[in-house]
Amino acid sequence: MMVSTASVRTVALQDTLLSYQLIRAARRSLSVRIEADGVVVRAPRWLAVHEIEAALHERAAWIVRTMAWWRHHARPLVRPAWQPGAEVLYRGAMLPLSVRHGNRNGVRDARVDLLGIQVTAPSAEPDALERIVRQWWRREAEDVLMPRTLALAARAGRIPAAVRLSRARGQWGSCNARGELLLNWRLILLPPELADDVIAHEVAHLCELNHSPRFWAALETLRPGARQRRQALAEWAGLLRE
Ligand SMILES: [Zn+2]
Repeated sequence: MMVSTASVRTVALQDTLLSYQLIRAARRSLSVRIEADGVVVRAPRWLAVHEIEAALHERAAWIVRTMAWWRHHARPLVRPAWQPGAEVLYRGAMLPLSVRHGNRNGVRDARVDLLGIQVTAPSAEPDALERIVRQWWRREAEDVLMPRTLALAARAGRIPAAVRLSRARGQWGSCNARGELLLNWRLILLPPELADDVIAHEVAHLCELNHSPRFWAALETLRPGARQRRQALAEWAGLLRE
């Protein structure tokens, strides 16, 4: 049985001719995502093409802006040339990568200091560097984000049932009715104040599991200005697609 069908179509959006991948699938609603390879639209089989393209026109400003941002920023941020001297993202800053061929054979490690990110590796093979830095990002995410979460939760007077890292695409964080927080490991790539905004947002959901005025008031108390900084956060959204 064929589960879904994909085709590439073109539509004029603002001043740009946009190619998008249209995936027809057994689903109820339309989704538009900008992924590593461009715009991907997932649509129910019964939805007419003109309706799909009307939805793209509605989102035109966002699509054009995000595509431009993606081309210039997001991709090199998470896919640097994995070689000595490459700039690697950490907490909102691009840091030069340096590699030490450890004479301690087989040692793989990374650390950050004033000079940048120092990797100790048996070789400077791009694949090896990528693996080491990615593991290090995850470890930093644990070490840095967990204490921030507990500190903000304490300030809110709440104790989360659990705090876990996620690798979900498309979402910085979430909180469920059981009081479990999921935080995207990619928060370690953001400027610290924006990562804190996300964490505070999820912690505020421990008080209000909705986006009601009471929720925004709780967030404002916990982290003044977080709501206003959402636009700044949106500019980093490309990271969530990698
Ligand atoms: Zn929320």
